[in-house]
Amino acid sequence: MRILLAEDDVLLGEGLQEALILQGYVVEWFKDGVSVLRALEASPFDLLVLDLGLPRMDGMEVLGSLRKQQLAVPVLVLTARDALSSRVAGLDAGADDYLLKPFDLDELLARIRALTRRAVGRTSNRMEFGRLALDLGNHQVFLDEKAVALSRREFLLLKELCINSGHILSKAQLEESLYGWSDEVESNALEVHIHHLRKKLYPELIRTVRGVGYLVDNVKTVSP
Ligand code: CA
Repeated sequence: MRILLAEDDVLLGEGLQEALILQGYVVEWFKDGVSVLRALEASPFDLLVLDLGLPRMDGMEVLGSLRKQQLAVPVLVLTARDALSSRVAGLDAGADDYLLKPFDLDELLARIRALTRRAVGRTSNRMEFGRLALDLGNHQVFLDEKAVALSRREFLLLKELCINSGHILSKAQLEESLYGWSDEVESNALEVHIHHLRKKLYPELIRTVRGVGYLVDNVKTVSP
């Protein structure tokens, strides 16, 4: 899951970025509206966390421009407690949710989970794939109901493949979901993660489609 964080307060931005990375999200952080809009136009994100008071172009303008271009990224607006009118206007302009500053980190994380779930059309944190179950909230994976220890990137990779089950994902698409733009990526890093996943889980789970990418077959069921 790639999150674009738009926040010009350096302390808050640093704290949020760190917390989101710890939760397993890939985070790109920008401090002004123009950069935020450019980033959204350049590449897909799963969620935009948008502070309304941004330099160069404020959050409301970013939101308006996004919706005018029909970029369908879910948006969580962060706004100051006294800016009640902009809050209401923010939702009218196409934000999916908003949070008042100062907010509780756990509350923010819960809202983010809800929005990213909604974005892929699921209502549960648990995904089941035949012998496999993923808990997206706690980042746990179970094989035949037994917990399997995965690294952060292995989990993210598995999640991305499972969410897109039945669709082939290219190496570039998978790398984009795992790494930020500033991360150094070894050319065979993805293959190494796939190799580990097959070994820790089971080899047939992830299919290689030669010259195209990787695929988890569509056996997705969602528990109630
Ligand atoms: Ca601000």
